[in-house]
Amino acid sequence: MKQNDFAMKNKDSSFCIFAFMVILFTAMASAAELVNPFLQEGQWYKTALHVHSTTSDGDVTVPERMKQYRQKGYDVVAITDHWKTNPIAGLSDDTFLVINGMEAHPQGNHFVCLNLPEGFEIQKNLDAQHVIDMVNAAGGGVIYAHPYWLGHTIDNLLSVEGYIGIEVYNGVCEVSIAKGYGSVHWDQLLGKGMILPAVATDDVHKSENINLGWTMIKAKELTAKAIMEALKSGCYYASCGPTIEEYRVEEGIVKVKCSPAAKICFGGQGSYGLVVNAKDGKPLTVAQWKLPDNCTFVRAEVIDAEGRHAWTNPIVLK
Ligand SMILES: [Zn+2]
Ligand SMILES: [Zn+2]
Repeated sequence: MKQNDFAMKNKDSSFCIFAFMVILFTAMASAAELVNPFLQEGQWYKTALHVHSTTSDGDVTVPERMKQYRQKGYDVVAITDHWKTNPIAGLSDDTFLVINGMEAHPQGNHFVCLNLPEGFEIQKNLDAQHVIDMVNAAGGGVIYAHPYWLGHTIDNLLSVEGYIGIEVYNGVCEVSIAKGYGSVHWDQLLGKGMILPAVATDDVHKSENINLGWTMIKAKELTAKAIMEALKSGCYYASCGPTIEEYRVEEGIVKVKCSPAAKICFGGQGSYGLVVNAKDGKPLTVAQWKLPDNCTFVRAEVIDAEGRHAWTNPIVLK
């Protein structure tokens, strides 16, 4: 090896370290940008983010699907047929917002692509990262759908970047094959320092599967812009039953307040966590945990007497 080669190699490795630090810093910076909805001004909007119609393999038309969600008390619905957007003119009003989108499947992934203009096309042979980049460039955002159902591991989740969240719960994957939960995948990402929020969805195809899982978004107003901003900053919580009323960290103690629960769980990286159980048949509505010194993030999960969950997004600890 010549001296120059050595210098060049050394330079290369310094560059790699620098690049790694930039990536790490970017990941941490995006973590710091997560917003706690319970400390934000705004309105709560019950939201369905993963919805199919007869445009692909659902059982009713888009207007009929929207009517069903309105009747269930939803404020926002994203229509996400496989590979296709939909005409949505006239479906929104002052109290109900329809967001256009599609579910794309590049390289065996399922990406719920939100806030796309009508007629937006994604070629089926594009690689997964390219799809995320083009959705972001169009002002949209990608949710990584049902990783458990796909048989995906943390390596799949880490092989792409730039998505804005993952599904911690997919109703249809759970009721059809009991692979709807993504909490282990989510925790592994969080443990690696990839701080992402997580949504719950129906992934409805058949009308009987409406209202299995939803996302409660806190936003300034009922517009696609405000809803997308809230989604990108994690200003929401996910649920398939319980309501979360408060979630915060104060002086090293994390606190949650919720609708009556059978147990409230807290979790950080690796082996950090705590389960608080209801006692003497009296449901829990509050719980707290004194955080260990080295805990890097904390999220809470509320489970009611019927086994239904709700999930806060993580708070990153300094
Ligand atoms: Zn899917
Ligand atoms: Zn789907």
